[in-house]
Amino acid sequence: MTASYPDCASCEAPCCRRQFMEDDDGWFSLAHARPLYRAAGTDVKVVGWYPREDGRQPMLECQGFDVAHLACTVYDRRPEHCRVYDCRDDDPDERQQRPHCDIARHRRAEAVRARAAARTGRTA
Ligand code: SF4
Ligand code: SF4
Repeated sequence: MTASYPDCASCEAPCCRRQFMEDDDGWFSLAHARPLYRAAGTDVKVVGWYPREDGRQPMLECQGFDVAHLACTVYDRRPEHCRVYDCRDDDPDERQQRPHCDIARHRRAEAVRARAAARTGRTA
């Protein structure tokens, strides 16, 4: 059974550091994204661009990520999309995957834990 949330512990968090933001209405410009982070007490920096027919989509680095401790410094106030994001839902064929996390690694780790849990009779 898949865990409710991905295992973020010890992850270098590419989802915070190199993210492309989209929702059902389309991709986010910097002007769309920035207020969400500022409201949470942090900000974003553009670290790359993805060319699109209707413009360039920014790759964003959240300034609230503590690289030294691999942790969110505004966790209690983090934006809604941070609360619901699950990298395991991403399509490996989509461009977000290239600069994004090593989902394969997370899935392998999850499978190993599940097998270990099955052996010991514990829930993963
Ligand atoms: S890439 Fe996935 S596992 Fe890593 S911090 Fe982001 S959501 Fe968590
Ligand atoms: S607010 Fe926290 S969880 Fe959201 S992108 Fe920034 S560091 Fe990551």
